[in-house]
Amino acid sequence: MKGFEYLQAELDEMKNQGTFRKLVPLESDQGSKVIINGKEVIQLSSNNYLGLTSHPRLRQAALQAVEKYGAGTGSVRTIAGTFTMHEDLEKKLAKFKKTEASLVFQSGFTTNQGVLSSILTKEDVVISDALNHASIIDGIRLTKASRKVYNHVDMKDLERALQESKDYRVRIIVTDGVFSMDGNIAPLPEIVELAEKYDALVMVDDAHASGVLGENGRGTVNHFGLDGRVHIQVGTLSKAIGVLGGYVASTQTLIDYLIHKGRPFLFSTSHPPAVTAACIEAIDVLLEEPQLIEKLWNNARFFKKGLQNLGFNTGKSETPVTPVFVGDEALAHKFSDQLLQYGVFAQGIAFPTVAKGQARVRTIVTAEHSKEELQEALSIFEKAAKELNIM
Ligand code: PMP
Repeated sequence: MKGFEYLQAELDEMKNQGTFRKLVPLESDQGSKVIINGKEVIQLSSNNYLGLTSHPRLRQAALQAVEKYGAGTGSVRTIAGTFTMHEDLEKKLAKFKKTEASLVFQSGFTTNQGVLSSILTKEDVVISDALNHASIIDGIRLTKASRKVYNHVDMKDLERALQESKDYRVRIIVTDGVFSMDGNIAPLPEIVELAEKYDALVMVDDAHASGVLGENGRGTVNHFGLDGRVHIQVGTLSKAIGVLGGYVASTQTLIDYLIHKGRPFLFSTSHPPAVTAACIEAIDVLLEEPQLIEKLWNNARFFKKGLQNLGFNTGKSETPVTPVFVGDEALAHKFSDQLLQYGVFAQGIAFPTVAKGQARVRTIVTAEHSKEELQEALSIFEKAAKELNIM
C-alpha cells in the first residue's frame, strides 16, 4: 500500500547509518539466561532486578487470580473495573512507600504523564533534570505549565531555576531517583533542601530504585532518610516488581484528585486480575525475602568492578544499571550484536534514547545471576571489545 514512502526513507537512512534495530524476541521465560534464536544466552538487558518475573510465588498468585476472577476486568477503574484487589495493592504500596495513599496506573509511563498533565496549569512551573525519562518529558509537554530544564544533577543550576521561578503559583521539581541510562542516583537530599528553601514541591520517579534502594527496596526517598519530605513518589510495577504497571504514592488529596483528573487512569481499562495479584505477591516477597536485594547488590558490585578492571568506562553508575560507553552509535550496536553471538544479551542504546556520540551497551545484572555467569559475561565482553577495538 502506498502512503508511507516518507517514513520508509527515514528507515532506510537508519539502515545506512547502522542504527536500524530489529526487535529481539525471547523464546523462554525471563531469567539470568534466556533463549534467543534457539540459543541460550546470559541476560544482561532486562529490568528484572530481583528475578520476580518468574518467581514461583508470583506465578502461583497470577494463576490463582485467573482461576477465581478470570482474564480481564471489563472496564476502567472509575466505572466497573475496580476490584477489591486493586485497592488492596494500593494500600500495600502506600504502606510500603510510607505515604497516606497510592494509585495504580496502567504503566510507569502513563503514571508520569497522568500526574504531570493533570496537576499543573499555566500559573505553575515544572523544573526538570535534563536527563529525566521520556515519560516525564512527555508529561511535561502535556501541561500548560512553564518549564525549565536544569543541567543534569547540577544543584547550582537547579537553584538558578528556582530563583527564576518565585512568581509562579506552584513550583515542582521533577527528577528520576536513579537515572535509567547512566545508573547514577539523584542528589535527593540537596534537591529536597532547595525545594524547602524555595517552597517547591518534589516529584521523584523511582522506576529503577524501587526494589533496589532503601529498606526492603522502598526507593531513593527512604534510602536517603527523606520519608515524609518528598511530595510525590512515582514507581513502576514492571521492573523490580516483575509484572506491569505504575503507581503514584502521595497524600490522599493528590490521589483523590488523580482519580478524578488523571486521564490515563480515567480512560484506560484496569489491570487484569493476574497482574494485580502478582504485584501484591511481589511486595510481600520484597518484605519477606530481603536476601534478594542483597544478592542483587553483590552481583552489581562484582560485575561493575569486573568491567572497570577490564578497562571499560562505566561512567557515573552507582547502581545495578551499568553502561559500557562506546560513543559511536553504529559501533554500540555492532558490539551488542557481537556479544549476542558469543552468548551475552546486552542491548546497544543510542540516540535518541541517549545524546548523540554517547552510545553505550547498557547492562543490568539481577539477583538471579550466578558468579560463574557474570564471570563468563565479563570474558565475552573482553573478547568482543578486543575484536572491535573498543578498549
Ligand atoms: N520512568 C523511568 C525512569 C523508566 O526507566 C521507565 C521504564 N522505561 C518508566 C518510567 C516507564 O515505566 P513502565 O515501563 O512501567 O511504563
